[in-house]
Amino acid sequence: MRNNFLMTIDGQSVAGEGVIDVVNPATAEVFAQAPDCSPKQLDAAVASARAAFQAWRRTDIEHRQGLLRRAAEVLLTNVDELSRLFTREQGRPLAAARQEIEGAAAWLKAVSAMRPPTHVAEDSPKQFVETRYVPLGVVCAIAPWNFPVTLAIWKVAPALLAGNTMVLKPSPFTPLCTLRIGELLQEVFPPGVLNVVSGGDELGPWMTRHPGFAKISFTGSTATGKRVMESAAADLKRLTLELGGNDAAIVLPDVDVDDVAQKIFFGAFFNSAQICVATKRLYAHESIYDGLRDRLATLAAKVKVGDGAEAGTVLGPLQNRRQFERVQELLEDARAQGLTLIQGPAPQGPGFFIPVTLVDDPPESARVVREEAFGPVLPMLRFRDIDDVVARANDSEYGLAGAVWSKDTEAALELARRLETGTVWINQNLSLRPDTAFAGHKQSGFGVENGVEGLLEYMVAQAVHLARA
Ligand code: NAD
Repeated sequence: MRNNFLMTIDGQSVAGEGVIDVVNPATAEVFAQAPDCSPKQLDAAVASARAAFQAWRRTDIEHRQGLLRRAAEVLLTNVDELSRLFTREQGRPLAAARQEIEGAAAWLKAVSAMRPPTHVAEDSPKQFVETRYVPLGVVCAIAPWNFPVTLAIWKVAPALLAGNTMVLKPSPFTPLCTLRIGELLQEVFPPGVLNVVSGGDELGPWMTRHPGFAKISFTGSTATGKRVMESAAADLKRLTLELGGNDAAIVLPDVDVDDVAQKIFFGAFFNSAQICVATKRLYAHESIYDGLRDRLATLAAKVKVGDGAEAGTVLGPLQNRRQFERVQELLEDARAQGLTLIQGPAPQGPGFFIPVTLVDDPPESARVVREEAFGPVLPMLRFRDIDDVVARANDSEYGLAGAVWSKDTEAALELARRLETGTVWINQNLSLRPDTAFAGHKQSGFGVENGVEGLLEYMVAQAVHLARA
């Protein structure tokens, strides 16, 4: 495996003016370094993207579609190397790491088939009036550590398709796959179209304040999203923010408990629950509560938590020490409140391992219910009455996604309409598509990713009024 990781600036591989350490979360040991981008290097990346924008925006969309498809092929050609690297820096087991790279390639291909709409208001002998969409300029893209490749590609694909250029920054916790992808894609995109920089905690704020960007596309926590919004105000940068969530799933009494337990378990704990749209509060009707809790407890007892590089591991460690300590602190608080925890096995350190944990019917006011754990801790809560459970599910500053489990489709659809979230799943979860809008309601976001709505967030309307007579 390579151990010199470089940024991509103006089509060239570039070392940082310093380095940051990258830790394997399964061992807690530093295993690589990533470049630490200086302000001068950031200026060079933005200048290169601005220069490239003038030619890139004038290319035919078919040309850009073709290059996105070539980028997908490059990811697939390098899937072995990228998945091994992914597991080492992110912690997720190898098979699931591979799915992330293959999924990113599929996403690039799907987005390459899209094109922005145009609206003709009048086409008469007197005049032709059309609204079309034009690109914005240079996009500042900032990604988190939980799905580092997927969430970067969610930005790269529509932004470049629309005719923008980009400077992309991965999280300091997971910079390596993104840096490597930047280097691999130097053979696909013209210099300056896709720059990739990495660095420590100062780099994000430098970027969001930089006057050379026309737009910020940010995925991360709600707290950071608010800071990003503030820094965008100075020069009215366009913004898309995909932020935190505390998603509720509601299980109605008519379900097949065995069947839904398995699916709910996966929806809550995949990627060790470090998913913005994971089920984070599970409301089960009182008539099935005990049965569902006991089945989930059986699954928790059996699941193999460990180093993602070891065969048979299903759930890896938490991705970084900060997140590990935060989840431990939430668990200590739950214990101090006398809450009942049902836990599966997990290796003792040195890696950042937390056992799968069910919290048995805590009060609605418990921190473990109110806050986004972003780790494998799932509070299970009883309900009797539909109006009551809807009110409890909606009683959150977040509104990212939610789920309803029932055999009665009409009842489930009606309940879904009452949930204040951007995505609602019925009898499934975690499924997101390139052609379907993903929007955080309330403090879960601002704007939309994916679908034609997401593509248009990288463009601005231009009305053309052509006189004919
Ligand atoms: P984070 O907000 O700490 O960091 C996200 C990114 O922002 C990183 O690249 C970081 O370096 C950068 N950053 C940090 N401070 C910054 C600042 N002041 N200005 C600009 N950039 C800055 O989030 P995280 O801990 O990496 O990710 C976990 C959070 O992300 C969770 O809350 C999760 O729910 C959320 N998330 C949301 C989605 C979504 O689509 N809604 C997807 C994945 C994760």
